[in-house]
Amino acid sequence: MAIRITTEGDRLVHAIFCDACQAVIADATMAALVCVRTDLPRTAGAMHLHKGRCLDAAEQALRGQELWDGWVELAAHLEQLVAGLGFELAASSTARGQS
Ligand SMILES: [Zn+2]
Repeated sequence: MAIRITTEGDRLVHAIFCDACQAVIADATMAALVCVRTDLPRTAGAMHLHKGRCLDAAEQALRGQELWDGWVELAAHLEQLVAGLGFELAASSTARGQS
């Protein structure tokens, strides 16, 4: 599972972890959302991966199993995900005083 909540001292940290190396993805522009072909109609699985070595390894493995269905930049995926939930990040951050 890519999304986990961990702790740093007494603080909760919400983070996305790479499905390949298990390290935190700290920069969404340097990561990818990989679509994994499934048997379900109009449905793809999702993997969150660092660009570079992690993405390259996943692409090679998934293509070998004929499960590769492309990728998008993680930052773009997160924008689409949030928009699909009817949520605006900038407005929400401002409302909570986190601008
Ligand atoms: Zn990684």
